[in-house]
Amino acid sequence: MSVSKDKRASVVIVGAGPAGTACAAHLGTLSVGSVVLTDRHDFPRDKTCGSGLSPKGIKTLRDLGVWHEVEPHSYPITGIRLVTQSGEESYMSAGSAAEAVVCERRVLDHKLLLKAISRGAEFVPDFNATDVLVENGRVAGVRSSNGAELRAQIVVIAGGAHCRIGQPEVRPRNVIQAIMGWWSGVGFREGHVEMIFDEMVAPYYGWLFPEGPDRVNIGITYEDAPGAPKHNARELFQRFLDKHYKARLADAKPTKPWKGHPIVWNATPSKLTRPGAIVVGEAGLMTHPATAEGIYQGMRSGMLAAEAIADTLRGGVDEPVAFHDYERRCKKAFRGSFLAGVAFRKLMRTRALDVVLRASKSPGVESFAAKLLASI
Ligand SMILES: Cc1cc2nc3c(=O)[nH]c(=O)nc-3n(C[C@H](O)[C@H](O)[C@H](O)COP(=O)(O)OP(=O)(O)OC[C@H]3O[C@@H](n4cnc5c(N)ncnc54)[C@H](O)[C@@H]3O)c2cc1C
Repeated sequence: MSVSKDKRASVVIVGAGPAGTACAAHLGTLSVGSVVLTDRHDFPRDKTCGSGLSPKGIKTLRDLGVWHEVEPHSYPITGIRLVTQSGEESYMSAGSAAEAVVCERRVLDHKLLLKAISRGAEFVPDFNATDVLVENGRVAGVRSSNGAELRAQIVVIAGGAHCRIGQPEVRPRNVIQAIMGWWSGVGFREGHVEMIFDEMVAPYYGWLFPEGPDRVNIGITYEDAPGAPKHNARELFQRFLDKHYKARLADAKPTKPWKGHPIVWNATPSKLTRPGAIVVGEAGLMTHPATAEGIYQGMRSGMLAAEAIADTLRGGVDEPVAFHDYERRCKKAFRGSFLAGVAFRKLMRTRALDVVLRASKSPGVESFAAKLLASI
């Protein structure tokens, strides 16, 4: 779709991932004027991601009114296989009801986009935003790489890990590196995700997430320590696969090439707004420091931003007050679990997981331990 110069909307959103689409869909529910949602891609599109949705992610999809459309395309997760750094292994199950799901991002993000469109948002694909328009110290719109301009009363920055445009201020970014691949024909215990803690990726982990009865994604997250030589991602991933999955991958078929992608985080959500603009999701560094979960945080912060925007555009609340409240609500929603994540990262450099795993093998503790892990 070509964009006419000087098109003006109430809200323009840069990025149609979970954060941008949730914001647009919720703005539609709140009847906030005209909403234009842009992305540099057309949809459906792939996104490098394990595609795991936690219980909080499922609840947020319910709150958005889109869960019933996502659920039929999701693989239900009822338990976890954990392997510790010393090689202890355990299966923990939370019972038969799904506590979490895996839903391919190609599907999830498209469903969210369709929901936003059904609630009145106009979608502009192939719009590669390169800069914000600033007038009298206020963000007044966005410009694309081909010179198209979209003007708005408020711009939402939802462009994910790589997006630097329009940011209120440069904040410390912690980076988790990740690389992953997709296979069919890998055996796994039905309904179980796998998390493998290994010194080669400490304090992070490798995973296997089933996307369907015969499809899995496998990946690793790891850190490049400041000042130390950077890891070769492909070489590290191959070593991990050889150690933990060699036998199970012997007859499996790769279905897509390996992909690498960073995950960025900061344990304290802050500096998320400036006059005329509000940052949501991973563009605002709101991902979990230990698990690298970011879909739930993206959707929830998108909804909170929509409420702040509605307060100011419709409710008569002064913008600085509404924006301050947005930041306060993001802190309240995420800071506790982000700080727990920072502590968890430290524990993962010790043998603490072995102790948890041994305890979890006692009857009665297993289900509790699985629920506890799901809630981190
Ligand atoms: C390997 C890996 C595994 C992961 N596994 C999980 C997991 O299992 N569960 C989980 O919850 N999280 C996971 N995450 C994190 C999760 O993928 C992200 O945190 C989440 O997608 C953030 O949502 P978002 O909407 O903020 O950004 P994104 O999903 O990145 O969406 C941003 C959108 O903005 C668009 N965009 C970017 N720049 C521009 C621009 N300049 N102009 C226009 N459009 C632009 C992009 O095309 C994209 O569509 C994983 C991440 C990685 C890398």
